Amino acid sequence: MFRPEYSRLIASLPATVPFVAPDVLERISGRGISLRLGANESAFGISPQAQFAILQAIGRISWYGDPESFRLREKLAHMHRVAMGNLVIGSGIDDLLGLVVRAFVEQGTSVVTSLGSYPTFSYHVAGYGGALHFVPYRDYRNDLSGLAVAAIETGARLIYLANPDNPTGSWHGAGCLDTFLHEVPNNCVVLLDEAYGEFLLPEDVLPIIPEDPRVIRLRTFSKAHGMAGARIGYGIAAAEAITAFSKVRVQFGVNSLAQAGALASLDDSRFIASVITAVAEGRDEYYVLGQKLGMPALRSATNFVALDTGSASKAQYIKDSLLQRGVFVRVPGTAPLDQLIRVTVGTPGERTAFAEALRDLAEYLCLPGSEAPNSIESDSHGPGLRGSS
Ligand SMILES: *Cc1c(COP(=O)(O)O)cnc(C)c1O
Repeated sequence: MFRPEYSRLIASLPATVPFVAPDVLERISGRGISLRLGANESAFGISPQAQFAILQAIGRISWYGDPESFRLREKLAHMHRVAMGNLVIGSGIDDLLGLVVRAFVEQGTSVVTSLGSYPTFSYHVAGYGGALHFVPYRDYRNDLSGLAVAAIETGARLIYLANPDNPTGSWHGAGCLDTFLHEVPNNCVVLLDEAYGEFLLPEDVLPIIPEDPRVIRLRTFSKAHGMAGARIGYGIAAAEAITAFSKVRVQFGVNSLAQAGALASLDDSRFIASVITAVAEGRDEYYVLGQKLGMPALRSATNFVALDTGSASKAQYIKDSLLQRGVFVRVPGTAPLDQLIRVTVGTPGERTAFAEALRDLAEYLCLPGSEAPNSIESDSHGPGLRGSS
């Protein structure tokens, strides 16, 4: 029987996925998920204008989309005050991560990231044969000096940093990032994953210097814009980097409906502002809930909050028990982050249902505050917060 010969790299890789999707979890467990709070999808839907634009675009679905995403890049260039040649569009950050890694990483190339950070980056590095070097989090935050030192020590060509971070929700402001860029060796590219960039305060966002060859930033329409299923995101980088990406990117890889929706969503800044406000309210509610139940919340600049259960076994137990009740949350896979449960900010109704489910469990686990239902809204939040910037 003929056995095809796979590349040595592919043959050497274990069959893994970066993380198991909720739909897959449903199939494995044979149980429906009624509260989908584990994938940081937006609970607040998409802009009505974006929805209308997508419906209109269906009329042209038999045509290939614009491989240059011209109109979208034009709008983004204007918005970020960069040239169109500083922008690349991809089918989400996950796609763009693969493109950036492909452009810089070959067999044995050193790459640095945090231990337990967003796993799709490492997945791509493994897929191109790079040598990953991990730096532990420090107090549930990316250790910027540690990352810079590791880059020097390993001769890294690329550092990956999610800011704001997933899975902790923590962030570093513009000042810290500027210091970090001075510490990073000159020949090392910093890949900034800003999937949650919209949730940062403007003063915390690192200024964009379009021709800085060392910084590549990735943004997405999956989170604040609520278009995760549409698969669209973009990268901002020096023109030379964009040219490099264009040598190998999938030219027709971005869905035309997604292009139309993204374009319209950028025009609906009022809608996005309302999402950001609603998410901030929900985060505050989770902070108070965590405090009540003895699971301190980490301060977050994202659309999710990580609650610290105090031990990995407790976090696993809570996650599994919640899943049995149809509630999907995530627990990071790597110690010491594996004692966190990461929960997406839902709608007010979803948050109430989540709080009830968690309180029931907390009662069972004999955690403090669990016998005091209906008290989440009535408390202030001050102590009990951890992490932060
Ligand atoms: C959600 C998320 C992504 C995925 O973005 P897509 O554009 O949907 O691929 C990337 N990075 C981080 C840190 C995320 O949390």
